[in-house]
Amino acid sequence: MNILLALLCCNTCELLNNELADNSSPKVVIVGAGPAGIAAATRLLENGFTDITILEAENRIGGRIHSVKLDNDYMVDMGGQWVHGEKNNAVFELAWPLGLLEKFDGNYKIQLDYFESSGMKLPQNLVHDIQRLEARVNDNIIRNTHEEFKSFAEYAQLEYFKYFEEHSEVRYLLKSLLYSFQLSEMVTDGGKNTWHDISAKGIRNYADCEGDSNINWKNRTYSTILDILMKKYPNPEDELPVLEKTYKNTKVTKINYNKIYDTVKISTANGKEYSADHVIFTPSLGVLKANYQRLFNPPLPEKKVTAIENIGYGIVAKIYLYYDNPWWTINGNKYFINSIYWTEEDEEEINKDPDRNWMLGVYGIVPVEHKPKLLCLWMSSARAIEMELIPRDIFNDQIIELLDRFFGNYYNITEPTKIIRSSWNINDNFHGAYSYPSIAAETMDVNYVDLSEPIMRNEKPILQFSGEATSEHFATVHGAIESGWREADRLINLYSRKNELSQFLKRISQES
Ligand SMILES: Cc1cc2nc3c(=O)[nH]c(=O)nc-3n(C[C@H](O)[C@H](O)[C@H](O)COP(=O)(O)OP(=O)(O)OC[C@H]3O[C@@H](n4cnc5c(N)ncnc54)[C@H](O)[C@@H]3O)c2cc1C
Repeated sequence: MNILLALLCCNTCELLNNELADNSSPKVVIVGAGPAGIAAATRLLENGFTDITILEAENRIGGRIHSVKLDNDYMVDMGGQWVHGEKNNAVFELAWPLGLLEKFDGNYKIQLDYFESSGMKLPQNLVHDIQRLEARVNDNIIRNTHEEFKSFAEYAQLEYFKYFEEHSEVRYLLKSLLYSFQLSEMVTDGGKNTWHDISAKGIRNYADCEGDSNINWKNRTYSTILDILMKKYPNPEDELPVLEKTYKNTKVTKINYNKIYDTVKISTANGKEYSADHVIFTPSLGVLKANYQRLFNPPLPEKKVTAIENIGYGIVAKIYLYYDNPWWTINGNKYFINSIYWTEEDEEEINKDPDRNWMLGVYGIVPVEHKPKLLCLWMSSARAIEMELIPRDIFNDQIIELLDRFFGNYYNITEPTKIIRSSWNINDNFHGAYSYPSIAAETMDVNYVDLSEPIMRNEKPILQFSGEATSEHFATVHGAIESGWREADRLINLYSRKNELSQFLKRISQES
């Protein structure tokens, strides 16, 4: 063997870890069993990685996909519900050929109404006006015709105020529009910020998947995608061993990637210790914001910290109402959106009542496709946190009061048989709903790519970051899945390169 080759061999031997040399699988610990974690695990398992451990803080898998069974046969999605888009969408590509999805366009016709806290309903000509206004504002932002406006709200509000000046009869609606506007659901970071924090440029640059943006799972729920990833569906006998590698109720409290150790050390709240060649960290940006300082040793690089602190993470909540006797009717392919808004006097009054002011965060009520006895109330803003904290018995009465107030003049409101609500914003394992492009992130010049950067040692990624907020398709399930695959592929590529090199070196040394 010549000296150059010998040197090359030596250097490469350092790169090749022991696991590869004795042909066993590197140890991978995945933190979090949401869609990103499950996607990473399944991809690795399918590519021959066997030493995989998934540590999950909750007592279930799925993360922000959480499908809950009601007393009857209905399954409902507390988190991710619709598949947003078709092209370049991993979920659509997996589930559509299996016949599991239904498109909204062509199958449903929306009836939009605005109900006022006084009990009145907005005339349809004004509803159409507002729809047109919304569409125009949206379009203009996306088409980049108003670059001078930094925040999404800055431009939208200007247009709204112009309209409201001309239509004093609908002045109250301004407030409601700020909530119901399609992006307002992403607002607020820890209750401090408003939709003024959503960057117009960030919205413009969003990697939307072309196609229908509200594709539903028919009688099923979004959790079906987890079964597809794990190969439990369509053939249960093909199921990959993800569940047996998952430790639930195991909250990671420390990830020590200090150079003094050969491997990364992971500690959990239940007193267990794990070590790994690679850690793939998937918890939400909310979890990172709340814990990054105590979670990682040594501290994360500055750029990563800037990204964690400045990228937006929003608050969204859902309340489901199941009725044995629905008080609304849906004819044929009708789908309704009942937006609600408060008069100034009513808002002032409700604001004085700390037990009730959560109601101001409700911006709409809609039916659920294929589940005709179900309604869903959508909420955003810090009010959603207040809602999640109200004791159940008080809350149930308040819901009936709310519906009666807005819809009582038009419908004979019956009592729901079952009420369930989400708790994403008060749960320490989520700390909110999903990420958004904030003005702060734009100012600091950070985005999802900075969140996704792995921490390397000896050209090996030892601490990797995955999850919706690290994806160009942030805020979605498909983004989360793609990010899990991305990190799995990083390891698969690394080891296939190493294997090739190792075989090459073996051959050369045998020949010489
Ligand atoms: C109300 C709501 C509605 C939504 N609607 C849609 C929709 O219609 N369509 C869509 O595409 N997307 C929707 N989303 C977004 C989508 O659900 C998320 O983007 C996606 O599920 C995120 O997946 P993830 O794997 O990145 O994170 P997660 O699902 O949050 O998974 C991370 C996992 O890490 C665990 N974890 C946290 N901390 C620790 C710890 N310290 N140790 C161990 N484990 C930990 C968590 O328990 C969780 O299981 C919605 C989300 C919400 C909240």
